[in-house]
Amino acid sequence: MLRLYDTRNRQVGPVLPEGARSMRMYTCGPTVYRYAHVGNFRSYVLADLIRRVSERQRIRVVACRNITDVGHLVDDAEIDPAGEDKILLQARAEGRTGLEIARFYEAAFLSDTATLNIRPPEHSPRATETIDLMIEMIAKLIEKGHAYPTPDGSVFFDAASFPTYGEISGNRLDRLKPGHRLEGVDPRKRFHADWALWKPSDREMTWEAPWGRGFPGWHIECSAMSLRFLGEHIDVHTGGIDLRFPHHEDERAQSDATAGHEVVRHWVHGEHLLFDGRKMAKSTGNVVLLQDVVDAGLDPLAVRLALLEHRYRQQMNLTWDTLRAADRTLRRWRSHVAEWSETPSRPMPAERVSRIEAAFDDDLDTPLALRLMRELERDDSIAPGSRFEAFLHLDQILGLDLSIDIGRSRSLPPGAADLLERRLRARAARDWAVSDRLRDELATMGVQVTDTPEGQTWS
Ligand code: AMP
Ligand code: ZN
Repeated sequence: MLRLYDTRNRQVGPVLPEGARSMRMYTCGPTVYRYAHVGNFRSYVLADLIRRVSERQRIRVVACRNITDVGHLVDDAEIDPAGEDKILLQARAEGRTGLEIARFYEAAFLSDTATLNIRPPEHSPRATETIDLMIEMIAKLIEKGHAYPTPDGSVFFDAASFPTYGEISGNRLDRLKPGHRLEGVDPRKRFHADWALWKPSDREMTWEAPWGRGFPGWHIECSAMSLRFLGEHIDVHTGGIDLRFPHHEDERAQSDATAGHEVVRHWVHGEHLLFDGRKMAKSTGNVVLLQDVVDAGLDPLAVRLALLEHRYRQQMNLTWDTLRAADRTLRRWRSHVAEWSETPSRPMPAERVSRIEAAFDDDLDTPLALRLMRELERDDSIAPGSRFEAFLHLDQILGLDLSIDIGRSRSLPPGAADLLERRLRARAARDWAVSDRLRDELATMGVQVTDTPEGQTWS
């Protein structure tokens, strides 16, 4: 059973109740105003891993990952109704409409997630197409006394009406200071920590609502979409660590106030990815896109492997060196899998595979799982056909396309596969003279053999 750290309870625990056969998971999706960077993908790979580990345990996963195509303002820490919408700002910069920008970057995002073998969610609602859900939810919150409209056409959530506000992030209401950008407290608000659910506006991408024309706040979007598509009991809610506050805190208040109970069982947050030791952010120019990785001649799945080398809860630093190293490992594993496929299949080494699976279950200890896989890779006491089956099995979780080189070796010159296999055995027996002779023999056939700490590879 998969156990994960729950940000709200601050402990590692089972993500599902005993005996549950299905999992409902919500992931805060991208704001589609630019290409997502590899830092963003760290958060989406986390959700994908939770899905893959659970599915292997015969849990049926229903995932919802929204598309934020309106309402996410440049400064989302301070709900400032005059604030710029990220999408409209980019639309102006590119001379296109907001909707054109949103659809373009959504398509780019989906293409990148497919490249990274991130399985598509069952539901991917767009904010602009579910405005009615948000209006309905806001009306319900007003009716229940958790929200209030103001004369200018705004609606605010009444933070004080939700006594457990702050449980996820530890930012309790009594300790929150008024925002630094506002000169004093916004006079429309009852309390400085109240946030906008509806913002009056008649610009592009606005809708009619009972409170006047405007657009929804980013936080209410996720509450409305998650409740509608997954229902009032959500097992896991994921996102990057920066979403803990205020986004998830506000989302929890809105959803729980609507449902009348705790909606999300487990809040899971992935730590940030740094690049060359610095925050990955467009504003500082420190951004690496998946396309940059491909342009550098690396396999894009090297990004996925590099991410798995670190546990999701630890901040990690990516560099071009670590990406190149991941690329080498990926290619070596694929070539080993192809090589092992030439030998008869054997049952998996059950105990070794269970240890690796246990590492995934233990709060996604992917660094340990990968270390154990490297040990298995070079353990010549285990039949190649057995390592072959183990790697294929584990790739269901890793999602690294480890079997794509199978069949490539059929283009080996006749007899070469046999020599490679004999050399593998010679090295296991520490018979270096035979191993060298076989390498030379292979070289004359045009097969270049390289020895790495994890064993031989060929090209
Ligand atoms: P956004 O499109 O800006 O709403 O972000 C999409 C997702 O990426 C959110 O879950 C963020 O928390 C996450 N995220 C943003 N920057 C990083 C980063 N450097 N490392 C990991 N996750 C990030
Ligand atoms: Zn969200």
